[in-house]
Amino acid sequence: MRRKIVAGNWKMNLTFQEAKELALRLNTWVKANKPTAEVIIAPTHLYLEQLNKDLKNSHITVASQNVSAMENGAYTGDVSAEQLLSIGTKMSIVGHSERRAYHYEQDKYIGKKITHLYELGMSPILCVGEKLEDRDAGKHFDVVQEQVTVALERQKEEDLKNLIVAYEPVWAIGTGKTASPDQAQEMHAFIRKTIGAQHGISIANSTSILYGGSVNPGNARDLFEQYDIDGGLVGGASLKLEDFTTIISANK
Ligand code: PEP
Repeated sequence: MRRKIVAGNWKMNLTFQEAKELALRLNTWVKANKPTAEVIIAPTHLYLEQLNKDLKNSHITVASQNVSAMENGAYTGDVSAEQLLSIGTKMSIVGHSERRAYHYEQDKYIGKKITHLYELGMSPILCVGEKLEDRDAGKHFDVVQEQVTVALERQKEEDLKNLIVAYEPVWAIGTGKTASPDQAQEMHAFIRKTIGAQHGISIANSTSILYGGSVNPGNARDLFEQYDIDGGLVGGASLKLEDFTTIISANK
């Protein structure tokens, strides 16, 4: 059974007070509505410790937006997997397109992050997705295949059970343009096939593949109804309680 998931990537948004209020209101909603989908939020590193405490006995997982590829040491400004775990964080987004674009992160380096997480019993949400020029050139499957296989090539199969991958076409992130349900389904099925070829069918079939890129209350249901779409990674719309909860409810 693949897990149904809706994750909110809060990026570099919200003051501490705003984040706390949003998290607590979301928790109240989750308790009252018991959604089918698992709910994850990824606030800035700064707020993880407090939100982990506030949501300790809740059904919301608090994830990091990023983790260092290095172990502890002289890496100014970085946050290690061990540090995240020491404040109760067990999951991290890795390979988000904004990290790839602004911090030049590449697939092998992203793979190292995943390995560190797994070594500590933590888990990744691996983001992949092509740029508009890749799609226009008909290279989108090649680009995504490379991102998936290189990031996962050094991982142990026993760690990859219940892997979460987010397909986020770069041209759809924060742009208001969404992949059509058919375009997204086609790529999700391809990602599952790619994982199956590399790690076997059982891992492919237990991987939750989330769609990300301008998911909103109006388009979520059509996307989530697709066979290989197990949920969403939501940026902008996760900052508004009503929009985010409508999206969560759409993932049945
Ligand atoms: C994201 O950055 O992960 C994302 C999907 O953003 P948005 O929903 O705002 O496009």
